[in-house]
Amino acid sequence: MSQASMRFTPCPSLPAEPGSAVVVLMKENSILLDEEGRLPRMDDLPETIHAFRIGYIGSCPCHGAVLAEQVTFGNLHWQDTRSAMQGLPEAERIAAGRAKTLLFWQDRRKFCGVCGTELEPLISECARKCPRCGAAFFPVLAPAMIVAVRREDRILLAHNARFKPGIFSVLAGFVEAGESVEEAVFREVREEVNIEVRNIRYFGSQSWPYPNSLMLGFEADYAGGELVPDGEEITDADWFSADDLPSIPAPGSIAYRLITHFQHQMNLKS
Ligand SMILES: [Zn+2]
Repeated sequence: MSQASMRFTPCPSLPAEPGSAVVVLMKENSILLDEEGRLPRMDDLPETIHAFRIGYIGSCPCHGAVLAEQVTFGNLHWQDTRSAMQGLPEAERIAAGRAKTLLFWQDRRKFCGVCGTELEPLISECARKCPRCGAAFFPVLAPAMIVAVRREDRILLAHNARFKPGIFSVLAGFVEAGESVEEAVFREVREEVNIEVRNIRYFGSQSWPYPNSLMLGFEADYAGGELVPDGEEITDADWFSADDLPSIPAPGSIAYRLITHFQHQMNLKS
């Protein structure tokens, strides 16, 4: 089967189809995998799971479901979602990310925000509708920016208070209501490390289903100001050259891509 035919294609949250299908089963921060570390098939499960369709991998239906208990099934095993997803083939990783964000949304959007009535699935859309007042609710994504700031041949990397000790990364933050993403880049960098940036340029994006973000990556150039971490979110920040980087986030993240892209460009220069 060709690479193109193995792409993941999303679809509305329809009822699960009978027969063989790939299934994303989740429980809190864990995902169920088979012996090869891949998403299991519905046929691998000894009992019927209440699942819903989230899309297709190639022509194979793909379902998502959450389990209330940490049950085990034969040779299948639970693994931490974030590390497991990095090891999945691309189509399965996208499917798992979609399932994760939709399951999170479903869990928190059971009742109408207008009149309080219990919502019903809106067949043909990935949405829920109120049977009383007709209000429709769609899954919510939280856009966030992530930016590699450069100052000549160095990159700005910072230690966030939530990181493991010794890890440094590029700056990131959520887009506020009313802002463009570029305005969020400018504001977040100033808030977190007290400097100004210019020449903000788009790099690429990544779904970040922890629980429902879309990371929009940028590069920008230093424009002025003295580097001062805010002391709350950012506890340390500095300029690093490509041949002297600290410990950075693991491969699979857009942060890693931004930092290694910088490193690659510097290596081409030298
Ligand atoms: Zn309502």
